[in-house]
Amino acid sequence: MTELFYTEKLKVLLPQYEDFLKTDVYPIELGIITKPFRQSLPLVKALREKAKAKKLFAPHLSPDEGGVGLNLMEFAQVSEVLGTSPLGHLIFNCNAPDIGNMELMHQFASAELKKKYLHPLMNGEIRSCFAMTEPEFAGSNPVNMATTAQREGNQYVINGHKWFTTAADGANFTIVMAVTDAQNPNPYLRASMVLVPLENPGFQLVRNISIMGEAGEDYFSHAEVRFTNCKVPIENLIGYEGQGFALAQARLGPGRIHHCMRWIGICERAFDLMCSRATSRKLNDHKFLGHQQIIQAWIAECRANINAARLMVLHTAYKMEKEGAKAAKEEISTIKFFVADVLMKTLDKAIQVHGALGITDDTLLSFWYRHERGARIYDGPDEVHKVSLAKAILKGYGMSG
Ligand SMILES: Cc1cc2nc3c(=O)[nH]c(=O)nc-3n(C[C@H](O)[C@H](O)[C@H](O)COP(=O)(O)OP(=O)(O)OC[C@H]3O[C@@H](n4cnc5c(N)ncnc54)[C@H](O)[C@@H]3O)c2cc1C
Repeated sequence: MTELFYTEKLKVLLPQYEDFLKTDVYPIELGIITKPFRQSLPLVKALREKAKAKKLFAPHLSPDEGGVGLNLMEFAQVSEVLGTSPLGHLIFNCNAPDIGNMELMHQFASAELKKKYLHPLMNGEIRSCFAMTEPEFAGSNPVNMATTAQREGNQYVINGHKWFTTAADGANFTIVMAVTDAQNPNPYLRASMVLVPLENPGFQLVRNISIMGEAGEDYFSHAEVRFTNCKVPIENLIGYEGQGFALAQARLGPGRIHHCMRWIGICERAFDLMCSRATSRKLNDHKFLGHQQIIQAWIAECRANINAARLMVLHTAYKMEKEGAKAAKEEISTIKFFVADVLMKTLDKAIQVHGALGITDDTLLSFWYRHERGARIYDGPDEVHKVSLAKAILKGYGMSG
């Protein structure tokens, strides 16, 4: 079915990505995610070099930027393949939040910021993070925030408290969302995005937040951070003052396609594990788990859900590419909550089929169950997307407000 969307480029590249993962990543991924991640950084670096040598690195970037030059539809399909391993996107340098920052800076950062920060980021020499959400305010309504960036001479002085700054531990810089014009009558024009190098006396990584019993480290972590009289040159502004929310929207559009296709990759791997278990675990001398009708029903339902989810995401990517993110707003909301739900259900069924083994760390399933629960919360919680989609539909029936 997916062949429908293959381009000539993908016909050549997809098998290469699949081979790379099967040969170099699947055999070591479980060992890496079950120990402190920093220990494996040299291994990840070596795999990144190998990806570069094979010309598979940074599939979303153009060849003159050191990438493969795929369009959104093509990248979406590569993203699914990479999503089958927890390390896939990181090895190929198209992992969140770096990919979102790359796309944002590519479009809106100054030539100097690009040279100093974007180019090493694209080359995989450094990592970055994105600090917008604050513990004291509802992240679903981000116009409420207390972090400020005050202009003093040729510097911004930033003060504020953020959390869930993914992968701040070990990152070289963050893009921070801060209020620059608190008095603006339009709340959507009050904030700006400023790049902050993290080697800065005004920046503090308070902690990696423990999530379901695991604080993680480096790339696999979410930090609470503080900015206290944190000074950066005014040239570190991205775009112009007051453009913060517009930039955040621009950053999120393609980001949701990336996440959804990565989740479909996870679903496919979980589905494969589930079917393998169903056909190898014996209930008695004559029956495997897969002989039970209830398990057959789960397998059929998961298959249908994953197929439907993939088509919805690729259709959304197609519309975004042809008509832009604004025109695809409803489709983007639809896939965000629909695919996150398919992901949770598929993981849950795969775990159930594995029995006790499913909740151990002897398979990838429990890692994903913990790490991906956030899918229904970040980039807009399910409920926000559902409400926004329903309102847009009902508007067509004459309802306002
Ligand atoms: C794994 C993970 C990674 C993240 N990474 C980053 C990052 O790198 N940088 C960053 O800045 N932030 C990050 N976040 C934060 C994320 O953006 C916020 O969690 C999200 O915006 C929701 O905000 P909140 O957690 O404050 O929930 P709240 O806004 O307090 O909402 C709580 C719940 O209320 C409900 N709700 C909210 N609004 C509505 C509504 N309008 N209608 C109906 N129900 C509603 C939803 O069920 C929602 O889950 C991350 C979060 C997670 C889980």
